[in-house]
Amino acid sequence: MQDETFDIVVVGGGHAGCEAALAAARLGARTALVTIRFDRVAEMSCNPAIGGQAKGQIVREIDALGGEMARVADSSAIQYRLLNRSKGPAVQSPRAQCDRRAYAQAMQAVLRRQPNLHVLEETVADILARGDEVAGVVCESGRRLSARAVVLTAGTFLRGVLHCGPKTWPGGRIDEAPADRLSQGLERLGLALGRLKTGTPPRVDGRTLDYMRLEEQPSDPEPVRFAFDAPDGPFDGLPCWLTRTTPPIHEAIRANLDRAPIYTGQIQSTGPRYCPSIEAKVVRFPDRGHHQVFLEPEGRGTHVVYCNGIATSLPEDVQDVLVRGIPGMERATIVRYGYAVEYDFVPPTQTQATLESKRVGGLFLAGQINGTSGYEEAAGQGLLAGINAVQRLLGREPVVLGRDQAYIGVLIDDLVTKGAEEPYRMFTSLAEYRLLLRHDNADRRLAPVGRRVGLVSDTVWRRVEEKERQIGEARRVLQTVRRGGRTLEAILRRPDVAWTDLVRDVPDLADLAIAPEAARQVEIETKYAGYLARQEAQIERTRRMENRPIPADIDYGQVPHLRNEAREKLARVRPRSLGQAGRIAGIGPADQAVLMIYLGSRA
Ligand SMILES: Cc1cc2nc3c(=O)[nH]c(=O)nc-3n(C[C@H](O)[C@H](O)[C@H](O)COP(=O)(O)OP(=O)(O)OC[C@H]3O[C@@H](n4cnc5c(N)ncnc54)[C@H](O)[C@@H]3O)c2cc1C
Repeated sequence: MQDETFDIVVVGGGHAGCEAALAAARLGARTALVTIRFDRVAEMSCNPAIGGQAKGQIVREIDALGGEMARVADSSAIQYRLLNRSKGPAVQSPRAQCDRRAYAQAMQAVLRRQPNLHVLEETVADILARGDEVAGVVCESGRRLSARAVVLTAGTFLRGVLHCGPKTWPGGRIDEAPADRLSQGLERLGLALGRLKTGTPPRVDGRTLDYMRLEEQPSDPEPVRFAFDAPDGPFDGLPCWLTRTTPPIHEAIRANLDRAPIYTGQIQSTGPRYCPSIEAKVVRFPDRGHHQVFLEPEGRGTHVVYCNGIATSLPEDVQDVLVRGIPGMERATIVRYGYAVEYDFVPPTQTQATLESKRVGGLFLAGQINGTSGYEEAAGQGLLAGINAVQRLLGREPVVLGRDQAYIGVLIDDLVTKGAEEPYRMFTSLAEYRLLLRHDNADRRLAPVGRRVGLVSDTVWRRVEEKERQIGEARRVLQTVRRGGRTLEAILRRPDVAWTDLVRDVPDLADLAIAPEAARQVEIETKYAGYLARQEAQIERTRRMENRPIPADIDYGQVPHLRNEAREKLARVRPRSLGQAGRIAGIGPADQAVLMIYLGSRA
């Protein structure tokens, strides 16, 4: 069979693959997106929600860089909530409940319209390599696609096995076959594989719920949307509903632990500690009488309701007892039982900060295959992998986002430096500079990067420049106009004074007609100026260390006085800078100092 030739092949049409393929095609590369089933492209395997704590920031970063997730989420949102609205700006995160079908269909439509992009329904069986360089892929059908870069985003499909009680069967997720052959191909290329697990709750028919017994969780009426150019304004959202588990349910779960795959030894791999199944919660927190259950509609045109908080792989009869024991769900009909999936991943310390494999040149990895969990984490990596695959083909500098620049930077740095012992998800607490990495300033942080690469259009760029201009103008007025002997800036720092108060009282400010988004920036940056200055100073100190490069050919065996454990870990991760070396688990400041002295002696 004749090889078909592309610049870049992206394997997998999940959240990582869609962003990777769109970025590559938009940057001019002839791109193939190879995925098992087109109708399942951009499927939300678990809950139909985008954003949330720290994830909402990632979605806005994707938008700022020129990715797609924010727009698709806005087009299919059925409920918005700004989480932590009453807390500081560093931890506020937008979240949207989406229409599951509408989300997938909107993304599929974007892919179909994208010039340079060819979507092929195939299962990739192997990666082709010439020496240490990737050369393309082979599909199970025998079709061969040659390419100079391959982005692998296989999600939960590699040797995927599903579990529901004692039943196990092969699958990438419910009703979808796994990809069984590719794992061997990766091992043959010298990549080590690990195994992880995740799970999902049952879904019920919304018509069988007793809404009088549930607590309503309304949508924000004037929501914060994800895309920076989405129009503001009112939104007609659907409510979600809150209820809780009860002690008798916990008893029933305890009585059936001998049939729970995570306790019988049937599931061997590690699941996400932060997002445990209901059986794990009952075992880990024996004193808690209740756990919250959020009932979230899956769309406007469906009665399916997702039961957030009771992920489980208990047998079906136990799931019946569990669901019907919950207040408001006594007559609920389960339309899909919860289950767990185990799958292969590529432990990400084998991957560089560019998301390119250390072993195979031109092979990029993104998403769940790198040990993460979550649509946003996957999409953020996919976007960067797509960008860097093109940068490599063009012989340009790769894009590596710093920890002080983006949550996506924190995510990738954590993965490639520390690895993933369990499915990794992003939290605001993982970012040391979270006051700088806010959702509201993602465009100011990252649109210049997207513009430099070529993903940010002229129209979007003009909007970013206009916002900067307005911020500059507002600052000038705040710093120069005085009231009662104090600058407006000093007055705005007071906790009881808001931007809107100043605009009402000061004609110079009102005349500027600053857009709400720009005004919000000025207000936050004025009120938190002290904290922000301290974070900037800390970044500067860290940057000096971060920027101290470690030569790629360093032989850690030759570094005197280095502890054996440190030597081993450094040799495995091969950090690119002293800063990254310091973040490897088990590498302390003393090891970093030894390394710094050695590098100084070589200079
Ligand atoms: C049961 C279950 C429960 C989950 N629970 C949670 C949760 O609680 N919280 C959370 O944040 N996330 C959860 N997730 C994970 C979430 O779905 C993923 O993190 C996210 O979808 C990962 O995106 P991805 O692009 O990496 O992979 P996926 O969305 O899995 O997409 C992978 C794509 O690759 C394709 N593919 C795979 N192998 C091949 C091949 N060889 N050839 C061609 N195409 C291939 C597949 O068809 C699929 O389209 C869960 C997933 C599952 C299945």
